[in-house]
Amino acid sequence: MSTLSHSHVMPTYSNLPIFLSHGQGVWVWDEAGRKYLDGLAGIAVNTLGHNHPRLVAAITDQARSLIHCSNLYKVRNQETLADRLTAIAGMDNVFFCNSGLEANEAALKIARKYGHERGIDRPEIIVYENAFHGRSIATLSATGNAKVQKGFEPLVEGFVRVPLNDLAAVEAIARTHQSVAAVFIEAIQGEGGINPARIEYLQGLRRLCDERGWLLMIDEVQCGMGRTGRWFAHQWADIVPDVMPLAKGLASGVPIGAVLARGAAAAVFKPGNHGTTFGGNPLATRAALETLATIEADGLMRNAERIGAQIREGLLAGLSERQGFVEIRGRGLMLGLELDVPCGELVQAALDLPGEHGMLINVTQERVVRLLPPLIMNSREADQLVAGLVQIISEFLARQHPHAH
Ligand SMILES: *Cc1c(COP(=O)(O)O)cnc(C)c1O
Repeated sequence: MSTLSHSHVMPTYSNLPIFLSHGQGVWVWDEAGRKYLDGLAGIAVNTLGHNHPRLVAAITDQARSLIHCSNLYKVRNQETLADRLTAIAGMDNVFFCNSGLEANEAALKIARKYGHERGIDRPEIIVYENAFHGRSIATLSATGNAKVQKGFEPLVEGFVRVPLNDLAAVEAIARTHQSVAAVFIEAIQGEGGINPARIEYLQGLRRLCDERGWLLMIDEVQCGMGRTGRWFAHQWADIVPDVMPLAKGLASGVPIGAVLARGAAAAVFKPGNHGTTFGGNPLATRAALETLATIEADGLMRNAERIGAQIREGLLAGLSERQGFVEIRGRGLMLGLELDVPCGELVQAALDLPGEHGMLINVTQERVVRLLPPLIMNSREADQLVAGLVQIISEFLARQHPHAH
């Protein structure tokens, strides 16, 4: 077993000094035997929590029959999953890959080729301040965070950046730029601090994209798959995108990515334009099919909406009068609690919560406590999460603002 001080893993994460070994439902245990309430789901990945009997049975069964065969052959599970995803999204077809950045990379390629087909020599894509789309060279260039980009210049060109929720800024680009092919937006920014695109804003973008012949590409990698109480967060705005990347929660922890397309965007890729060795393999697509079926059978979208509201109300009741509390944003089980000071130390405080269990949470943008629990969390577990959070955040804020009460 490698020790922490002699790890041969590249230090791309300054990760916490525990090894998680197994889980059950919304609970996980580390190698030392301490138990944690999972408020993060591996960053919105473990949709069905841990050791879900349906998922484990499906993966086991699939492993016995066929794990991989390449896209040189038709993959039955891939066809079935494409049928299901296009039906729930109201879109036309799907390209499968293995991660969020790959889904976004495919979306960017679709946008560029769509632009070229419309006679645009150097297509441009409108992207957002504080956006996060991944860490490949193209997706980090689309990302609106200098820390993600620093050291990897030259960036990929062809992106025009605007602030979120400011339709006039996009209209101004429409007047001054002739080469726009697409708008690329997260329905709710995740890494950027849980910043929802407003409903009217998404509807305004849809209208503008229709008028201009631009593709509306909505990155649902983090906010999609039932987490907000609808299959996809943009569905709260009653719109349909032209291109939609998915990943994270799609197969409850088995790596997978997908990009859905509709209309002209669905006809862009021809044989030879894009590809992947692992993408859409029988194992990952089986795990995704079982995830979708379980979300539906167990009413997990309704649960996400209800438990999310419970957590939000509990946190507001316990913390909103505290000096240093700013606001809670998000929808369903995608919540961000903003404080007025950097609060990264809360992650360790959550692990070390006094009593019989700790908690797994995350802090993003330095001041935003991010919660992304599994969609199976029940009301009692939500109460436990709220109680632990109110305790550590109250203590933290009391230290930061010693003269407040
Ligand atoms: C996590 C994330 C990505 C990148 O996904 P990876 O699987 O880490 O490549 C892209 N977009 C959004 C919105 C994300 O949250």
